Amino acid sequence: MIGITFTTATLPARKRIALVAHDHCKGFLLDWATRHREQLARHHLLATGTTGKLLEKRLALPIESMLSGPLGGDQQLGARIAERTVDMLVFFWDPFEPQPHDPDIKALLRVAAVWNIPMATNEATAGYLLASALLDQAHDYRIPDYDAYLNARR
Ligand code: PGA
Repeated sequence: MIGITFTTATLPARKRIALVAHDHCKGFLLDWATRHREQLARHHLLATGTTGKLLEKRLALPIESMLSGPLGGDQQLGARIAERTVDMLVFFWDPFEPQPHDPDIKALLRVAAVWNIPMATNEATAGYLLASALLDQAHDYRIPDYDAYLNARR
């Protein structure tokens, strides 16, 4: 393994929450988001293209939409996570259907793990995330120490 060391950063109280659902899971995400609209409204919401359009209509809240997932939207969200401008990921991926953009999905899940953001990949865990006392608080978390990583490679 490459020598990664870690440092501490702070997630803001008002979180930038990315929401993604595959086609057969979009109904579940829309219903879940509707039930939790009040909580979600306190945060900045982002989504992949189609998910974002549907959420905007259902919730009547502003959603920052990326491209549609199969056209690069998952990669855009992944880049935002790596830049540390997305703080949480709720991703209802479909365990029953192969996806044409499977490498992008894996990349998104990987980068969320690398940067240690809170991530729910099913509805039950998404409920736990929103039930957390940390949702509306700034709090510290562990991230890779990028400066140390670069220094070690000079
Ligand atoms: P979509 O993308 O919101 O544009 O459908 C989701 C995905 O397939 O990753």
